Amino acid sequence: MSAQCNLCPVRCGAERDAAPGRCGEKNEMRMVKYGLHPYEEPCISFRKGSGTVFFSGCALKCVFCQNFDLSRSRSGEEVSPQRLAGIFRELEEMGAENINLVTASHFLPKLLQTFSLYRPKIPVVYNTHAYEDVRALRALDPYIDIWLPDLKYFSPRVSERYTGRVDYFAFASRAVEFMAQRRPTFQEGKMLSGCIVRHLVLPLNSGDSVQIVKWFAALHSPAYLSVMGQYIPCGEIANFPELQRKITPREYRRVVDCALAEGIENLFVQELSSAEKDFIPDFSPSSRNLF
Ligand code: SF4
Repeated sequence: MSAQCNLCPVRCGAERDAAPGRCGEKNEMRMVKYGLHPYEEPCISFRKGSGTVFFSGCALKCVFCQNFDLSRSRSGEEVSPQRLAGIFRELEEMGAENINLVTASHFLPKLLQTFSLYRPKIPVVYNTHAYEDVRALRALDPYIDIWLPDLKYFSPRVSERYTGRVDYFAFASRAVEFMAQRRPTFQEGKMLSGCIVRHLVLPLNSGDSVQIVKWFAALHSPAYLSVMGQYIPCGEIANFPELQRKITPREYRRVVDCALAEGIENLFVQELSSAEKDFIPDFSPSSRNLF
């Protein structure tokens, strides 16, 4: 990595040998937890669970982050590429259906080093907020089987309100266009390769969600769309009155109805009962059970 980091669209130029950038992280990779995750989409968690690795830090920093302690770099242990390769092997031995890398883009050089040490025998999932530089995705492309971007905001006004970034959709839409080209393949209902574009519906923001769904439909890509309804009030939202409640069935239905009206057939929808804290992993370091 050059002395000044410009890995992600923030391009903050931090000298990460000495101090963290906006992502909250220095050069060394840090991980909070790993284990089998049973609550991803059924074709991802499948029978035994997704072998999920939660990294520390995040360049986007949504105020309502559902994994707030991770994204604010409040926890985590340093892991070398050798150690992460060992974790991949351990997850495989635990029976993981895949290796699921959650918010890892700010550690790109170390990830590439890890893959040069060990290529998992099971699919590798790249789970991202989609605020990515396409050049970074191209570098990762040979090692990733399933792209799992969460396309969060359409309007610059909304993304600025919740992240401070007006250019979220400008970057994320290009990143999703790249990832969504991956053709899906399955074996007995388990996804082996492809792309699932997620979208978390926020309270009082279903209009923005509808714009996302229409944009996705116009892509005419082979990707799946997953409309998520599990938002719960979390994070630093004291000054955001609209974020103090879960979404209503009517808000969720509006977005799903739009997806159906747009003719999107590759679609995942949720029961709103999944909007409970029980579905957020336990990040205490003591166990490999994520829930
Ligand atoms: S990865 Fe982190 S340090 Fe690098 S540009 Fe993005 S926010 Fe800044």
